Amino acid sequence: MSNGPVIGIDLGTTNSVVAVADKNGARVLSDEAGSLIPSVVSFHPSGDVLVGANAKERRLLDAQNTVYSVKRLIGRPYTSYEVNQARERFAFELSEGPSGGVLVTARGETYTLSEISAFVLRHVRKVAETQLGVECGQAVVTVPANFNELQRSATKAAGRVAGLEVLRILNEPTAAALAYGYNKTSNERVAVYDLGGGTFDITILQLAGDVFEVLATAGDTFLGGDDVDSAIADHMAGQFLEQSRYDTRQDRQAYERLKAAAEWAKIQLSDKPHVKLCIEELAYGDGGKALNLDYALTREQLEHMCQPLVARSFDVCEDAMKAAGLRPTQLDNVILVGGSTRIPLLQRMVAEYFGRKPLADIDPDLVVAQGAALQALSLAAPARKAALGRVALKKVAQPTTGSHPQMTEEMSFEDEVTNVGERPPLPPPPVARAARKATLPGQAPPPPPVELKNAPQLPEEEELVDTPTRSREDPLEHEMTRVAAPADPLDFQPTRMADASGLLMQIGVPSEDESEPPLGEEEPSGLLMELGDDAFTSESVPVEGSPPPPPPLELRSSAPAELRAALDENVDTVTAAVPVTDVPTRAPLLLDVTPLSLGVETVDGYCEHIIRRNSAIPAGQTKMFTTARDGQETVVVRICQGEDRHIGGNQLLGEVVLDGLRPATRGKVQIAVRFMIDADGTLQVRAQDVGTGQQQQIAIKLIGELPEQEIEGLRERHEAKLGS
Ligand code: ADP
Ligand code: MG
Repeated sequence: MSNGPVIGIDLGTTNSVVAVADKNGARVLSDEAGSLIPSVVSFHPSGDVLVGANAKERRLLDAQNTVYSVKRLIGRPYTSYEVNQARERFAFELSEGPSGGVLVTARGETYTLSEISAFVLRHVRKVAETQLGVECGQAVVTVPANFNELQRSATKAAGRVAGLEVLRILNEPTAAALAYGYNKTSNERVAVYDLGGGTFDITILQLAGDVFEVLATAGDTFLGGDDVDSAIADHMAGQFLEQSRYDTRQDRQAYERLKAAAEWAKIQLSDKPHVKLCIEELAYGDGGKALNLDYALTREQLEHMCQPLVARSFDVCEDAMKAAGLRPTQLDNVILVGGSTRIPLLQRMVAEYFGRKPLADIDPDLVVAQGAALQALSLAAPARKAALGRVALKKVAQPTTGSHPQMTEEMSFEDEVTNVGERPPLPPPPVARAARKATLPGQAPPPPPVELKNAPQLPEEEELVDTPTRSREDPLEHEMTRVAAPADPLDFQPTRMADASGLLMQIGVPSEDESEPPLGEEEPSGLLMELGDDAFTSESVPVEGSPPPPPPLELRSSAPAELRAALDENVDTVTAAVPVTDVPTRAPLLLDVTPLSLGVETVDGYCEHIIRRNSAIPAGQTKMFTTARDGQETVVVRICQGEDRHIGGNQLLGEVVLDGLRPATRGKVQIAVRFMIDADGTLQVRAQDVGTGQQQQIAIKLIGELPEQEIEGLRERHEAKLGS
């Protein structure tokens, strides 16, 4: 088969959807069972691995070997609350993997959760290939906006096991907004309210032409349609216990049947006022007598069960609204995503909360995959993006761009040295601006430097405390644009921190401007904009008669809406010069944020946040580390994600190991470590020995992460089971 397009995959907790886009827009692909492909994998006694609708049916017959809702658990440590919950609820067997992750055992074989997701991904890929008649080896895969580093990394690994190159991990609400606003010229603020099977997400975006800027996002990873099903199933189980004196909650197979019936009833009640059903042979009583359940439910009763669950979603909405500095009624539109938003009560409650009816003409099941496909299309057309970039640079460098006094060459350069995650000079709408500066709920100021209780006291303790410093500032309290001072990695405020052995070591915090550190060739020069794959290059414009090309600049601007509006004529010129077919008139620009703060452990179990929640991504921050012992060769830094002041209240991601340090007396080796969250929302770390300028060897060990060589082995096992 020939090489096909990049596909967009909504890898859902409950259902997955695959789509492809071309110049005519996005098209959802389906198999004989439809476009919603259940994210269910069943291990058949024959050795076959069933995926999708066939696997879902097996849930009723063979619950122990039929795995579903894996997305709720992927990337979570085995010891987490969520995994504990799942062990009680799920009929299939979960156990702890060697690196702290979760394994599933079915028919005597164990699988990582990335492998289970990979079965789904490989299946949806096949659906696309069958439909399109070409090989589809590349994809954009969506994840909930509030997925952390471990979850994103495990999803990427799933792609690789499935033999897919995941070009981008895209946040689901951003994808939904993209599908809604694609090729529109609207300027509006929208909320994407997504209630699926297992999770709830709310995201506020500013849409300005082809620019999609996330203002804030929040979510609950344990709120969804499954909870409604469980509520109904419990109701059924109670009734059955009363009638038959048989407790189905102690019989996993029977309870699975109740949940399946509950879901069916729930879906019926989105259209009908009442429903009746009979579950035959739910259990067997005395003398092997078959016990049936006759059950009836009205929409009113269901609404009574749903009401508190839907209400919980508005607590999360409040969180996002506060972070965005907006009131619900200040939004222009509400996009509903996820099958659970078909519940009439939910639609009424959403309309009441936002003071407006949600948009009715969007398919809540398909919109995320459509957005992923549109993003995939733009990633598949690099020539086109470069063209846009060249035009942008030309304009930016022209001081005559009168309508935008800020767009000067000088300012562009300031942007370049501003922290990657910082917002740009051209102002987003005033409210969005306020949002960036707002103090987030539940966010305490960073803890003061404290000492590790049980650690040996270092003699130079006083000296450390008394070191003259400039005040440390919360990055969120900064203006969005700052003139960054030349980076001086030594100009840091020292705090103290425990190394892996419990010894105290110094750690610096940028004192004022979070400038780029001297990390050698940080970014390839010539990149004008480092926002996902909408990177602009600074090559000269091959247009006749154009002024001499400006020197290479970098612009990390997030206000290209206005910029692009001013560039329309030039875009046309370049379009003519770069023959690209089958791509939209312009590549959309997605400006996303990181949903969780990234921190490192300091002394006394405190967490010091280094990239704040809701920072624009890509985002970066540098911290200084130094040795605490003479001749110390290794420094270990524990990293976490979450808003708590204590590391224990956050999700521990793993460790960053700085290895192979040169032998020196303590404190003499100083390492600038740059933590970056890339456009996929995943963590990258780079380190440099400040004294020598040498790049430092570095390893990130994420909890539950699959080692490189294992992924390859899993891919081979996969192909053997499912075919390539
Ligand atoms: P996910 O994103 O978690 O994969 P989906 O968006 O596919 O989830 O939504 C699945 C959830 O939507 C399930 O809980 C399903 O029962 C529910 N659902 C689907 N259709 C309806 C409907 N018509 N009424 C109520 N709930 C529905
Ligand atoms: Mg979904």
